[in-house]
Amino acid sequence: MKLLLASNNQHKLSELSRILAPLGVDVVTPKHIGINLGDVDENGDTFAENAKIKAENAYKIAKMPVIADDTGLSVDALNGAPGVYTARYAGENARDKDNVIKLLNNMENVDDTERGAHFTTCIYCIIDDNTTISVVGECFGKIAREPQGDEGFGYDPVFICNKFNKTFALCTPEEKDSTSHRGKALRKFADELKKYCNKEKT
Ligand code: IMP
Repeated sequence: MKLLLASNNQHKLSELSRILAPLGVDVVTPKHIGINLGDVDENGDTFAENAKIKAENAYKIAKMPVIADDTGLSVDALNGAPGVYTARYAGENARDKDNVIKLLNNMENVDDTERGAHFTTCIYCIIDDNTTISVVGECFGKIAREPQGDEGFGYDPVFICNKFNKTFALCTPEEKDSTSHRGKALRKFADELKKYCNKEKT
């Protein structure tokens, strides 16, 4: 099955492809198939709503099976911020680096014991007019005092995952997949997709 990822983010594409390829799912981006999904107004109040908004926009334009992921970081000491504003924490069109700097500045006076945070990924997939799959994955950890590591993207250099007690940017791709919000959501998604495919066969 060919699935259109409702994003041109190469890091997300790699993570999705690594986990879904064994199922025979070929993930492509809008760029790969020469379409433009335009700017979608991600104005939902939740990650789940935003994933659905992105998927519905892509399905309307591409008319093929689509998958959208919306991810956010919730920091305990900031009452859950940046939350749905994770991508634009430092303003519209903010770069990853700007968001990380703003987060570290806002956390400057927060004790080591109070730096808990978690990522949430909501995935919304539209296979056809009558079939959708939505799943959620979470990963718990804490915010580092300074960026560490070069792997990954976004807030990876400052998110210390509980499983490995090091930032995602210091983890190998396989380590990150094994515990990340997106890894967990994608494994649930793969299970749901298998069920759908088996039903289609009967
Ligand atoms: P979106 O899901 O593309 O809207 O991304 C929301 C924000 O979360 C962006 O700032 C991304 O860089 C960041 N982000 C998404 N996934 C990850 C991840 O796996 N690690 C670190 N940051 C992420």
